[in-house]
Amino acid sequence: MHRADPEALAQREFDLIVIGGGITGVATARDAALRGLSVLLVEKDDFAAGTSSRSTKLIHGGLRYLETYQFKMVAESLQERERMLRLAPHLTTVRPFLYLLYRGYPETRFKLSLGLAFYDAASGQWRKRRHAMLNRQQVLDHEPNLNPEGLLGAGRFYDVLTDDARLTLDTAKGAAQAGAVLLNHARVTRLLIEAGEARGVRIEDQLGGGVVEVRGRQVLNATGPWTEQTRALEDGGPTGRLRPTKGVHIVLRKRDFPLNTAVFLRSPDDNRVVWPIPSLDDSLVYVGTTDTDYTGDPDAVAPNESDLQYLLNVANQTIPDARLDLSHVVGCWAGLRPLVAPLPGTSTGNTSREHTITAGSAGMLTISGGKLTSSRLMARQFVDAAVERLGRSTHRPGEPSRHPGERTGQRAEPSDQPSRHPGARHPGERRDLPIRTRWPRSRTATTPLPGAELDRLPGIRVRAAAAGVPAELVTAWIARYGSNAGGVLSRWLAAPEASEVIGPRWLTRAEVRYCVDEEMCRSVEDLMVRRTSLFYWDATGGVSYLDTISTELASRLGWTEEERVTQADAYRALVARHRPTPA
Ligand code: FAD
Repeated sequence: MHRADPEALAQREFDLIVIGGGITGVATARDAALRGLSVLLVEKDDFAAGTSSRSTKLIHGGLRYLETYQFKMVAESLQERERMLRLAPHLTTVRPFLYLLYRGYPETRFKLSLGLAFYDAASGQWRKRRHAMLNRQQVLDHEPNLNPEGLLGAGRFYDVLTDDARLTLDTAKGAAQAGAVLLNHARVTRLLIEAGEARGVRIEDQLGGGVVEVRGRQVLNATGPWTEQTRALEDGGPTGRLRPTKGVHIVLRKRDFPLNTAVFLRSPDDNRVVWPIPSLDDSLVYVGTTDTDYTGDPDAVAPNESDLQYLLNVANQTIPDARLDLSHVVGCWAGLRPLVAPLPGTSTGNTSREHTITAGSAGMLTISGGKLTSSRLMARQFVDAAVERLGRSTHRPGEPSRHPGERTGQRAEPSDQPSRHPGARHPGERRDLPIRTRWPRSRTATTPLPGAELDRLPGIRVRAAAAGVPAELVTAWIARYGSNAGGVLSRWLAAPEASEVIGPRWLTRAEVRYCVDEEMCRSVEDLMVRRTSLFYWDATGGVSYLDTISTELASRLGWTEEERVTQADAYRALVARHRPTPA
């Protein structure tokens, strides 16, 4: 995927302009582009720079929502989980989880086993991944370090771990492959409103500094925790429908906190459900999450000491012998849940994770709420809503509602055919959309994400081995890029110096080059946080390698020495804000 030239966009009109490059925005752009719509996506920072890189990194039904009887949402999410296992196998790993039962918990063994039976059945995979109820001794046989006091047993079930930022990036790649035009590091600062209707956006390029106005027949707001600010561009003021809550996670070393299986238990402070989860590579365990109201600037959300202490209390309750304090925290992150405001009197833990789609006064469509897991479904519904509005706006009053293509003898494109990307058009050109019965339907339920071609992996491994690439290196590439690891390998083979390891966890020059060339990486933070996740899983965040890493980026991106130093310093400061004690 390649970053669009902002200046070239000024001449163009798109069917849809999507604001926001989190999972919701990129999934929307991909859905629309796969239907043959022309789409521009604008992201003020980087893809997944908001909540979509700061989640619990689970593709899950959300067992705990059964507590509040959200059966439909849980069932829908489980079906999406199964779909994602098929469409993004390189980014989804099934893991066992133990839902622990201690004396005094509100869950009884019977209630938990009923909930888990529903979970099995709703996923449609009850034969393959069936839950089991374990007694106290069975739990301790599995996890001998767990707190035995008051332990009654557990329910073992299965859910899926992912890398949320990589999921967002590969979805963005899928959007680009389907023809969407993508622009990261570019902020929408104004809606172009004509005759009361939003007909485009003003964009400020955060890299080149230019300003462009781009036309779009429908504007879509997918800005998560920034939803209210984006709505204010249309309505002039916040509407108060969003109630963000802050969720913090901490990362601990497995040698300090010896846990092998993800567990759900209740916080000793407020009895909320919390979860320590071994990381994908099993060397670390992350513990989440807090859930507190947040009214500050979404750009400034960060963990504070009381968040960390709350999570350390959870860890010490789980394994009392660990005796953890702030010095054991390897890293942490904070995200905002863009939850839809509930009825008065509802607590944050009970606020709905379901999403809503609403049209504003100038016709901008806004999506709020939702989950990483349900992003494909949300995107489908969002594009359906957009297409419906586009269809209506091409229907002139007094004229029978029919596809204008019929007037010219054209036929609507069948939804199950690979759709041509029509490309963006110049202002004044029209390509009317079909009426309801002929809308191009979503194709995302059956289209795999880029990187999902697992049958290409043996070939990549053989090529790499023949070239003398260490097996660990190939494994790291495959874990991050799936079948696109071949793109990193090509760069490794192309130049002798590309094989040099210049960062933790096998970061080579070849990988940096791949991220710049193919993934629109434009800053040190883009590379370290979203592309490689070194920010999360390396105790130092990779800062000791920053000179070499930033020099490699500078040579690829044409930075001056001053820019390189600014970039490196900004990343160093970000790491410092997320490490309670120096590594
Ligand atoms: P975001 O990812 O925040 O994206 C919005 C984007 O809009 C941002 O990148 C921002 O920079 C951009 N933007 C804002 N204003 C502008 C502008 N003016 N111009 C251009 N761009 C703009 N879900 C799960 O399924 N599984 C989980 O395990 C899970 N865990 C979670 C844990 C926590 C702590 C939190 C907070 C959420 C969790 N969720 C989980 C929910 C999930 O992460 C979110 O629902 C999802 O990431 C929201 O994505 P989004 O695209 O709506 O928002």
